[in-house]
Amino acid sequence: MTDKLKWIHDEIKVLQDNGLYNQIRTLGSAQGAWLIVDGERVLNFCSNNYLGLANHPRVVQAAKKAIDKYGVGPAAVRTIAGTMSLHVELDRRLAAFKGVESAITFQSGFMANLGAIPALVGKEDGIFSDELNHASIIDGCRLSGAKIIRYAHTDAEDLNKQLAQRRADFRRALVITDGVFSMDGDVAPLDKIYEVTKNYDAILMVDDAHGEGVLGKGGRGIVDKFNLHGKVDVEIGTLSKAFGVVGGVVAGNPLVVEWLHQRGRPFLFSSAMTVPDVAACIESINLLEESTQLVDKLWENTDYFKTAMKRLGFDTGKSVTPITPVMLGDAALSQKFSRELFNVGVFAMSLGYPTVPRGKARIRVMISAAHTRDDLDKGLEAFAEVGRKLGVIS
Ligand SMILES: *Cc1c(COP(=O)(O)O)cnc(C)c1O
Repeated sequence: MTDKLKWIHDEIKVLQDNGLYNQIRTLGSAQGAWLIVDGERVLNFCSNNYLGLANHPRVVQAAKKAIDKYGVGPAAVRTIAGTMSLHVELDRRLAAFKGVESAITFQSGFMANLGAIPALVGKEDGIFSDELNHASIIDGCRLSGAKIIRYAHTDAEDLNKQLAQRRADFRRALVITDGVFSMDGDVAPLDKIYEVTKNYDAILMVDDAHGEGVLGKGGRGIVDKFNLHGKVDVEIGTLSKAFGVVGGVVAGNPLVVEWLHQRGRPFLFSSAMTVPDVAACIESINLLEESTQLVDKLWENTDYFKTAMKRLGFDTGKSVTPITPVMLGDAALSQKFSRELFNVGVFAMSLGYPTVPRGKARIRVMISAAHTRDDLDKGLEAFAEVGRKLGVIS
């Protein structure tokens, strides 16, 4: 080992000693309620595959068919030769699904934030950001060079206070929040945030990554849930969670979308989404538009699982969505809990710092429409067994 990289070794040792080292498990199967993980068949409690679309036969078939016609790669960025008719169709279909005028896709949700935020604000501007916003929002904000002002988590009154104090310091202002917070499963009070934001000549942006396909009518997202159509300027989304594929989207005001065609850096300088991804996403939208059955099932499963977990005595935090944190506090305990679950056939990962604040480690269970009632019962049994063994519940 060369000396100049020895610090990495030391840092990794610190992570290992504190139960914060990422053990990356490997899947030997398609996504679904059950997985082969590191050679073991286990119940899947940690994918973002909310609706089971990642391996849905129609979605898979759509990707295969598109490959036969278009090949696999776009071979260019969208602004040069990478915009295929499929991309145009997906942009249009996403806008229609979300009930907005325009949408533009990026390679991921992360990229959508990195593209959209710096295109809208710069050095002379201010961003008012929920203190628990997702890492990709934080990075997009930093990249923009704008002044970042954090307001207390989901606190519209604090947002109002910060805007009253600071708005005048800036040329433009952007208010930005996660829709569903991915670690706690709580939901931003978007109605209240809108009521505050509209008084300060500020752009309103919401990241609906965990809300699409989950919240609102047939999974149309947080803006639909709060009936704020036409009032939120920019919606960020991902195609990697409920949609089951990969990709990102910025939806909303057509002027914003037009601007991102000109100034969204990952749109201009990184190749377009691949053919099978785009085709698969279109088929996911088809399924969501045909029926609310999968979304209904997701919520039925969520209610069943959470009620039973609470009855067992687990603390599932503030979640009001299928994201079910099982709060354990200590990172080492949480990692141990996850390993014990795996030993009894349940795959649910522990999350610690920096994914969640220090001292707030947890197992995060992700409920899916792909789970049967029997799957959920097996999972509950495993939680009860491990919880008693480790003294988390009595
Ligand atoms: C998951 C997530 C993203 C990133 O989405 P990818 O498509 O996986 O890059 C962005 N924002 C939020 C709030 C997320 O939860």
